[in-house]
Amino acid sequence: RAKETGRHRVVLFDECLQKRAVDVLLLESELRTALAEDQFLPYFQPIVRLDSGAVVGYEALLRWQHPTRGLLGPGEFLSVAEECGLIEAIDWRMFELSCKQAAVLCAGGGHININVSARHLRRPDLHERLMELLRANGLNGSQLMVEVTEGMLLEQPELVRATLEKLAADGVHAALDDFGTGYSSLSYLHTFPLRVLKLDRSFVTELDRDGRGNSTAVVTAVVQLARALGMEVIAEGIETEYQRDAITAMGCWLGQGYLLARPAPMAHWLK
Ligand code: C2E
Ligand code: MG
Ligand code: MG
Ligand code: MG
Repeated sequence: RAKETGRHRVVLFDECLQKRAVDVLLLESELRTALAEDQFLPYFQPIVRLDSGAVVGYEALLRWQHPTRGLLGPGEFLSVAEECGLIEAIDWRMFELSCKQAAVLCAGGGHININVSARHLRRPDLHERLMELLRANGLNGSQLMVEVTEGMLLEQPELVRATLEKLAADGVHAALDDFGTGYSSLSYLHTFPLRVLKLDRSFVTELDRDGRGNSTAVVTAVVQLARALGMEVIAEGIETEYQRDAITAMGCWLGQGYLLARPAPMAHWLK
């Protein structure tokens, strides 16, 4: 009996793996079609001054207008795009569209933030290609900001550092995305040219009526350290007035989140 059960288990496991493999293959072929047929588009979420509500920039967020499944967010396809090597092409399409739309969206000031994937950041020609794209759209460096995560800085750090330094020299500053989810010290991360620190949403969520917890103390310390190092801080994922007020009281002036504005296509922000 034991043997039978064992064999049965193996079969189930196999079927499961097989189904996943088929799903991945299907998604991969759909992603190729999506690139060819231009189904990707940027949504833009405002980055807001918490005191006045003024918009200082927008983060471009990838969306896939899927022909049958509707509008999909990156959580539903980005890991497969990374696995099958399509991420660079998708990222590049996003950069092209974001820069084109930035020329309209930021005509009166402000900047567009774009998320860069790990593979893309390690391309030796990224700086050159981005500068060409900016020129083609009549933008200057300060109208673009790149968002990178801690993990991307730790792999091939010298190559990444050189790219970020070249970009910064041309006015394209970098933001450290999702800060607080990794384990590196800010003093090490600060050896990279990072203008902005984006405080991960998990910190902001924890603040809610945090009478006894430590998150208030942690966030206050992070904000103070970042500012002492000359970085600006953007709080991610502000959903409640309480969070907004608490964050402001801790000395953080910039934020993003559903309370302030949800991501939407460019046309929405031109009204
Ligand atoms: P991220 O860069 O940290 O972006 C913030 C995410 O939080 C976005 O999810 C945004 O829609 C969501 N968000 C904003 N405010 C709130 C809030 O108040 N509450 C909650 N619960 N969520 C909020 P999204 O658009 O699903 O993107 C997920 C991640 O996918 C991004 O995280 C980024 O890492 C990645 N991503 C997005 N666009 C691109 C892209 O063009 N290229 C690459 N390589 N990655 C991208
Ligand atoms: Mg981001
Ligand atoms: Mg983020
Ligand atoms: Mg995040």
